[in-house]
Amino acid sequence: MTNDVIIVGGGLSGLGAAVELASKGARVILFEQSPKLGGRCYSYIDATTGDIVDNGQHVLVGAYHHTLRYLEMIGTRSYLKGESRLSLPFFHPEQGIHTFSVSVLPKPFHLTTGMLQFSLLSFKERKRLLNVGLELQQWNSNKEQHLSLLTIDEWLTSLNQSEEAKKNFWNPIAISVMNELPERASALLFARSLRSTFLGKKADSRLLIPTIGQTELYVHGAEEVLRKHKAIVRVNTSVDRILINSGNSIGVEAGGKIEKAHSIICAAPYFTLQKLLPDEITTIVPFSHLNKFKSSPIVSLHLWFDKEFMEQELIGLIDMQLQWVFNRRKILKEGGKATSYISAVISGAHDVVHLSKEELLSLALKDIHRVFPESKKAKFVHSVIIKEKRATFSPLNETEQYRHSTETPIKNLYLAGDWTNTGLPGTIEGAVMSGFKAAERCG
Ligand SMILES: Cc1cc2nc3c(=O)[nH]c(=O)nc-3n(C[C@H](O)[C@H](O)[C@H](O)COP(=O)(O)OP(=O)(O)OC[C@H]3O[C@@H](n4cnc5c(N)ncnc54)[C@H](O)[C@@H]3O)c2cc1C
Repeated sequence: MTNDVIIVGGGLSGLGAAVELASKGARVILFEQSPKLGGRCYSYIDATTGDIVDNGQHVLVGAYHHTLRYLEMIGTRSYLKGESRLSLPFFHPEQGIHTFSVSVLPKPFHLTTGMLQFSLLSFKERKRLLNVGLELQQWNSNKEQHLSLLTIDEWLTSLNQSEEAKKNFWNPIAISVMNELPERASALLFARSLRSTFLGKKADSRLLIPTIGQTELYVHGAEEVLRKHKAIVRVNTSVDRILINSGNSIGVEAGGKIEKAHSIICAAPYFTLQKLLPDEITTIVPFSHLNKFKSSPIVSLHLWFDKEFMEQELIGLIDMQLQWVFNRRKILKEGGKATSYISAVISGAHDVVHLSKEELLSLALKDIHRVFPESKKAKFVHSVIIKEKRATFSPLNETEQYRHSTETPIKNLYLAGDWTNTGLPGTIEGAVMSGFKAAERCG
């Protein structure tokens, strides 16, 4: 019997599509080239400490509506924890810890009062933060057009944000949301992310952090749903070719065999897609533009010590090499044997991704000792350093026009993935949203 849908790639976009289609009764077959599902979201148990290590700490917000629906469908939504209101502590090397919190007031005042109370900035600078809040509220297509030409840094300058306000507030947020430096990243994508987080429902601005490993959170429940609905999942099986006949996609060649289906969803990253298509097709838009995309790296440093020294669950570091530090011992539901376990993140890590693990460890420990003086008394026990060189596509204005929508010029071939035209930077939410959308087109 011919399959209804073949899905190429078992990251969150492919899994989102597979779960959605299989739940609706479609005959689905999913191919994943690696031995595991989850793509750029995975976790494993560290043999030395017994702790769960994520390839990088992932953070969600309440505005991730598609992701939350996906987690509901696979039964793991309850493993996200979040405070009722967003509250972000920042460490400044000279001025210590200051916290940005949205208030209990209704939107948009929850954000504006939070801005006015952020004590790391002068009162004049805090008042100027409101320029950005106002800009986000007065949204229209002209503004979208204007922002699509600006970097985040240019946009903030145009709204009279001082260098201090950028350094102490906007940049740490922008780099983590965009995984790119504010001097390069698209103002439009950043502004859209801020709008969806702060100007939607109040719960949309909640920060949500997984209390279990990413594989347990995103993959195990999905595998169960797919098994229940008799979907076929082939890991360790690379799709070598998408088969196209007279402008119609008819199947794939995978593991030396031909598999046919009515529809194909390609949920592989942009840098793989071109290799899967016949040469004559790679010259057609959008496939001819795939080499215009660039990637941006993330370096994650997982560190264990013999003493606890971090009170917070997470903290942003201003003007330092590490950008965010997460207290994994406090966040995770279950843990290994070492007393203290923290994960530090460097996003948009172009300048450090080439450093050796020893060099990265040395710069991380320097920052940790500075932020947490008590850590100097703790014995450093173990480290795992993960470099994701292609963590996300680089969200630049130049490439935004090449992010293609779900449909392609090839009949019955649909695209999914965080790099497709989701309107968002490279995120879990973009990935799941694109998978759902592709599933809907096949339905
Ligand atoms: C360290 C790190 C931290 C991050 N932090 C956050 C965060 O805090 N919040 C957030 O929202 N997002 C974050 N992201 C981004 C998020 O992880 C990604 O946007 C999302 O996982 C992308 O999913 P995807 O399905 O689009 O792509 P992928 O996960 O790349 O999935 C594509 C899959 O296709 C498979 N594949 C490729 N070619 C073939 C082939 N020929 N045959 C079969 N299979 C194939 C690949 O092996 C892969 O499994 C982070 C990413 C990283 C790496």
